[in-house]
Amino acid sequence: MTRTVNCPVCQKPVEWSAEKSPFRPFCSERCRLIDLGDWASENHAIPGEPVPPDMPDDKNEEPQ
Ligand SMILES: [Zn+2]
Repeated sequence: MTRTVNCPVCQKPVEWSAEKSPFRPFCSERCRLIDLGDWASENHAIPGEPVPPDMPDDKNEEPQ
């Protein structure tokens, strides 16, 4: 009988099998890294511009 869990990161069903799901309970290494917080580190720099928190941006500006 196969047990299935949901990936804590993306909620995708993951088969609880050492052979088929070496990254369980995550569906993939990517999700595992995300959960570990590695995703936010510079080890996995996302192509594109980082958004500085204090940077004014017309597109995101909301009237108050
Ligand atoms: Zn996942």
